[in-house]
Amino acid sequence: MLETHNLTKVFGRAVGAQESILALDDVDFHVAEGELMTVLGPSGCGKTTLLRVIAGFETPDSGTVTVAGRPIVAEGARTVPAHARGIGLVPQEGALFPHLSVAQNVGFGLRRLHPCERRDRVAETLELVGLAGFGRRRPHELSGGQQQRVALARAIAPRPQVVLLDEPFSALDEYLRENLRSEVRALLTRLGTTTIMVTHDQEEALAMGDRVAVMRAGRVIQVGPPRETYFQPADLQLARFLGEAVVIKGELVGAGTDRACVSCAFGTLPVAMANGCTGPCDVLIRPENIRIGDVADTRSPGLVGTVREQTFYGHDGLLRVHVAQLGGDVTVRVLGDHPHRVGDDVRLTVERSVSTYPIER
Ligand code: ADP
Ligand code: MG
Repeated sequence: MLETHNLTKVFGRAVGAQESILALDDVDFHVAEGELMTVLGPSGCGKTTLLRVIAGFETPDSGTVTVAGRPIVAEGARTVPAHARGIGLVPQEGALFPHLSVAQNVGFGLRRLHPCERRDRVAETLELVGLAGFGRRRPHELSGGQQQRVALARAIAPRPQVVLLDEPFSALDEYLRENLRSEVRALLTRLGTTTIMVTHDQEEALAMGDRVAVMRAGRVIQVGPPRETYFQPADLQLARFLGEAVVIKGELVGAGTDRACVSCAFGTLPVAMANGCTGPCDVLIRPENIRIGDVADTRSPGLVGTVREQTFYGHDGLLRVHVAQLGGDVTVRVLGDHPHRVGDDVRLTVERSVSTYPIER
């Protein structure tokens, strides 16, 4: 449905600019019809620029964008103006028109419809986002979450082929954010809209995306389903950005075959992704994949250590276990009501395949 090829955008080439910024560096990706793609990356990596180029508010220096096979940007030149692209953008700050009512905001992109049709469409869309009856209010009379829904309603009211959401939940508190996430996801799925949602929040990207595209310094470094992104990240820097990571040394055996294994302190573990390693490597283990058990249980050898610290999050918790054999600590995720206490000796085993990486210099 939406494809970009070699998109590049440089800022600050103007006369007098100190240095130029490569905001988009050869960005290539595609989003399938009805798919929700999340774009994840730290602040400043080019997420907003990517959306603005696709929406038509920014002209790239080179590259192409096509929507449903129709080129809207070709070789860096806009061929279709923003309003005619069939793309709805919800900008980062929501940006409702403060002097217009909710209904006027939602009807903003519907000026070409007959007034009756427009009224029906506005009512229908407000109902979709759970704000039926709010049409006469002004934005300042709404909560943050309601304003965000109006911004979404304004973007989807013209029934665009593609919706772009720029950090739509970042200004909301945690509880509201979680609710709105699943609501918005369900709504977009129901409408069958093709969506790109950008966020700097890794949990949000993993929870909402059918696939996740990870950006770093203007480049897309990995695209894949959330599970793959989390368990097989492209490199260790991304592994640590996405969550808790245990990294130990290992030796890859059987490189290049589908039976590749890594020999490490935990024993011999199957490898899900070898990343071109041969021989010595770094091994990534997620704390969820470490099983904690009784020291006396020697059915699987694993490693013996001592619980040094525990952090309680309610539904789950993290234990920091000192393992003398590794000369360091290993983080293990446990259920909130786990029986282990600081000072306890425990046995740690890994029962899932792992990913390996070339050793960091
Ligand atoms: P993100 O949304 O991921 O935080 P942006 O796309 O907003 O990142 O910005 C990417 C880079 O481009 C940043 O270094 C930012 O400072 C720069 N940038 C963005 N817009 C402009 C602009 N209009 N002029 C100059 N530099 C810009
Ligand atoms: Mg941004």
